Amino acid sequence: MTFNIALVPGDGIGPEIVDAAVAVLKAVGEKYGHGFQFETVVAGGAALDQFDVPLPKESLEKCLHSDSVLLGAVGGPKWDTKPGHLRPERALLGIRKELNLFANLRPAKLLPMLASASPLRADIADKGVDLLIVRELTGGMYFGPRGRSQGDLGETAYDTEIYSRGEILRIGRMAFEAALKRRKKVCSVDKANVLESSRLWREVMHELAGEYPDVAYSDMLVDNAAMQLIQNPSQFDVIVTSNLFGDILSDEASQLTGSIGLLASASLGEGTRGMYEPIHGSAPDIAGQGLANPIATILSAAMMLNLSFGLAEEAKAVETAVEKVLEKGFRTRDIASGGSYVTSGEMTRRILAEISCGS
Ligand code: NAD
Repeated sequence: MTFNIALVPGDGIGPEIVDAAVAVLKAVGEKYGHGFQFETVVAGGAALDQFDVPLPKESLEKCLHSDSVLLGAVGGPKWDTKPGHLRPERALLGIRKELNLFANLRPAKLLPMLASASPLRADIADKGVDLLIVRELTGGMYFGPRGRSQGDLGETAYDTEIYSRGEILRIGRMAFEAALKRRKKVCSVDKANVLESSRLWREVMHELAGEYPDVAYSDMLVDNAAMQLIQNPSQFDVIVTSNLFGDILSDEASQLTGSIGLLASASLGEGTRGMYEPIHGSAPDIAGQGLANPIATILSAAMMLNLSFGLAEEAKAVETAVEKVLEKGFRTRDIASGGSYVTSGEMTRRILAEISCGS
């Protein structure tokens, strides 16, 4: 089969890590007999430099016509003084919105050989962390009515948390379906003791739980969830939550695994097309020095293989190759805990070798 992939290298370390993921996809294609066609798309700061807009129409069109999008990262100090509508990050929001990607999936897994890089206490880390946060991405407070006015105590600003039944149903379904392929547990995180929008969220999740009798369902208030992630993260399988709570909890969860350079993400909508990207930014401080950890982007490509292209075996082969290289002790600087480390390119070559010789 042939899959068309739009590549958005972006800025900073973006081009380096996207190159690494492309090499991995090519190796998978060769080994398993799939064709991957790549089309590079200019977006973010790179597009501002060339076209004075963060997401040129032609770039968006290419994403819309692809089977999926692989993104490095956008942004950097060069563009920090630009007004809001001309920030590199607008490119991400534009692609998500136009592709109607309403769900953000972030797996967070603590690999045993990297336990020492985790801030968790050893006895907690030993119980394992292997969870998936399913965050609603196109609704809630980030998109609700907002504004400023004059009040009795001076200038007043407001944002509105707003969710419809339809929005909650579709993100909930995504979470329950994901749980069926994992350990069959869903925990819905809300603030139903205070917020009306959370009460609707909870009602709809309970309805969905009735449709999925094989999935063990629970609710948790967000303040408790923030504590439980540190105290007892092994209890979680799939966490489903709103845009705002998901933004905060997914960053918290990612830190449990040791390095931001390891974590992949997928943004999905109703169809199979998605946008896949590492959770980290463009790391301008290390760009061009061979210090970027390519693993988060390589694992994002593995998520693309599994979730958008239905190539579960191929995705597993990539994940296994990454784990084998780490088991053999190879580390990029961010996960070396002060010890010796290899370059970005060397890490990629080791992973490619494992893919080629893996069974
Ligand atoms: P960052 O994630 O780029 O970097 C934070 C720290 O982590 C830095 O020390 C960096 O060197 C390190 N780091 C990040 N990725 C790494 C990797 N793969 N390997 C090794 N070390 C890595 O966050 P920041 O410094 O706050 O932001 C830099 C720029 O990236 C900003 O312009 C920001 O707006 C942008 N950003 C973009 C995205 C995105 O494109 N999705 C996300 C977050 C930040």
